[in-house]
Amino acid sequence: MTIIQQSATLVEFIYKQKAKGLKVGFVPTMGALHNGHIELIKAAENSSDYTVCSIFVNPTQFNDPADYKKYPNRLPQDLQLLTAAGNDLLFMPAVDELYPNGVTNLERYELGNLETMLEGKFRPGHFQGVCQVMSRLLKAVNPDLLFMGQKDFQQCMVIRRLIELMQLDVELITIPTVREADGLAMSSRNLRLTPEQRKKAPAIFRSLQQIKDGSASVAEARKMLADAGFRTDYLEVVDVNTLEMATASQNAVALVAAYLGEVRLIDNLVLPVNKKQL
Ligand code: AMP
Repeated sequence: MTIIQQSATLVEFIYKQKAKGLKVGFVPTMGALHNGHIELIKAAENSSDYTVCSIFVNPTQFNDPADYKKYPNRLPQDLQLLTAAGNDLLFMPAVDELYPNGVTNLERYELGNLETMLEGKFRPGHFQGVCQVMSRLLKAVNPDLLFMGQKDFQQCMVIRRLIELMQLDVELITIPTVREADGLAMSSRNLRLTPEQRKKAPAIFRSLQQIKDGSASVAEARKMLADAGFRTDYLEVVDVNTLEMATASQNAVALVAAYLGEVRLIDNLVLPVNKKQL
């Protein structure tokens, strides 16, 4: 696997791959890789000729400085996993490399109400940070295909908007959420759960499943999480396209963000039309 840390080197390197006619697939990550990330790499390998993964813990998207400081770092394992998965290139820039003029007073993106709803509401500035880093990564990698996880449902919507705003010729492909055997969505942040919290964590997925199969209303699912010791930022059923309140006839998604102790977990499930209790 080729490892590159400088943007200029990467740009030149990718230019050469594209000149050979290779289709470039890109998987951006913040490291501490798990099977969810590896599924994205595999999907990229299946539909492109050259796969690029990035590992960069982006300071501008953390609205909570403690969360940034405590973000897991497992580079040796990450390198092994990426090599075993057959990833072609790893881009691993330093903060100064992507943000040579510092991380304050950066450009802003017009994201409409994606920025003020759900994740946007509870993590002010988060999606601006996501766009700031993704615009830099997309310019450097210049991929044909971009692979992202449905676990970050609203982030996928934001990136679709960013691609429009930047008028990029890149196709965004979203991959279903990869879960642990007990249903917990894989996440680098799961590493921060205590054994006791880890036992409780699958209740998030169960609450979504109960909404999906009609055995619980949204209010009941919220109560279930509260009773299990979660501090819920939101649990809502919303329209898949607008994130506005869904009616029973719309394609909807149940989205949740909840804390166990200091660790914030998110998950979602797309619901069948007309088969949900609101
Ligand atoms: P992160 O490293 O958390 O920034 O995630 C990098 C990419 O992996 C994003 O596109 C995420 O949506 C995706 N991802 C994270 N967790 C999962 C998962 N459990 N299943 C599928 N994709 C995931």
